[in-house]
Parts: sequence; C-alpha cells; structure tokens
Amino acid sequence: PVPLVDGNVNRVLARLFGVRGSLQTPAAQKRIWGLATRLVPERSAGDFNQALMDLGALLCTPKNPDCAACPLRDGCWAKIHGRQEQIPPPRRPVPKKPIRYLCVRIERRGKLLLARRPFSGLLGGLWELPGGEAAGAAADEATELQALLKKRLGIPVRIGKLLGSRKQTLTHRWLEIRCFAGSAASGTIRPESYVETIWTEPERLGGLGLTTGMRKLLATL
Ligand code: SF4
Repeated sequence: PVPLVDGNVNRVLARLFGVRGSLQTPAAQKRIWGLATRLVPERSAGDFNQALMDLGALLCTPKNPDCAACPLRDGCWAKIHGRQEQIPPPRRPVPKKPIRYLCVRIERRGKLLLARRPFSGLLGGLWELPGGEAAGAAADEATELQALLKKRLGIPVRIGKLLGSRKQTLTHRWLEIRCFAGSAASGTIRPESYVETIWTEPERLGGLGLTTGMRKLLATL
C-alpha cells in the first residue's frame, strides 16, 4: 500500500502526532511520510488516503478545526494539548523579489512580433513582447535588452526609446515591465528560449493568451 501525503494530510498527521516546527523541512517531511507509511492499511489504502484528505479538508482545517466533530479527537496530540492553531506554524511571508522585465515592440508591415514563453515555469505558455529579465544596471537597459534579444531570438535588434512601463505585483515578485521601441533587421528568427514567435496584427492580440501585465501594457502603447 502506498500512502498519500498532500497539504491536508500533512496538517492532520502533524496535529495528531504533535509534529512541531515547520513542516517544510526534510526532517519534518521524513517524519510525516514515515507516519503515513506506518498508518496506511494493507487493504483499502485508497479509501484510507481519501478519508485522511477529507478529514483535513473538512474538519481539520488550517483555522478553527472542528475538533468536536472529529473521530480522532481522543487521541489527537494537538487537541489534548490545545495546540491546534500552532500546528503547523504559520508560514513566514516570503519577501518579494523585484524584477525588471525588458521587452521590445517591433512592428513590421503593420504586425507586431510576439513570443511564447516555455510551457513550464513562470507564466508558462503565455505570449509576450520578446525580451527578458534585466540583471544589470538600469542605465544599461538598451544594451542589455539588445544582448537578450540576440540570444533569445537569434537576430540583431536595434533598440529605440522607452515607450512605456508597468508595475505589477505577483505572488513572490514585484514586476516592472519596461517596453522599448525596436526594429529588427530582416533575417530568420530562431527563438532559443521561446517556444515559438509570430507576427500578428495588433487587433488580434486579444485572441492570444497574453500575460496580464503585458496585455495591460500593450493597451497603453
Ligand atoms: S482533533 Fe482536531 S486537530 Fe486533531 S485531527 Fe481532529 S480536527 Fe484535527
């Protein structure tokens, strides 16, 4: 039989057996998985796993667990010690990381160049004006963007003036998108870290899955 440990099961087992401290550490996870492995029965393992997950979702909730209705209350470490609210401890908020995304608006015969992000990772599979994350000083943005585009699109791009910028708050990041005018010499685009690129009429942008920040920024350009 194979145990199943999701976020709900983590919480239930931690409370039942008094696993204190962060549940994210390897030691805590080893203990939780050890408990889950010991508990899962030979028969009806699936039902058991589902019941634990349901218990976590419906009764042993992160806040105000309904211990009075819980069938495990008599043997629960957290209930006996009145520590339900401290197990697991609230996660410390992760400080947001500031990011500058530099991109370029290249128009050719009335069409804009758009690039599609890799399917895995942040904002996977969404379309954007091509560019990349800035690593250098703000004063060298044009040079950095030029180098990023040469690498990511495989063609030289001339960078012009700043057209606009937009700030956006993501879960773990402060994102600033800075868009420059640009022109590309003719040549075959060989997207390196993009899935694909297209030239599209501005009126058709609505039909593409754009990142929210990009969609709002494009509307202002
Ligand atoms: S008694 Fe309360 S804290 Fe313990 S498992 Fe049940 S709902 Fe969770």
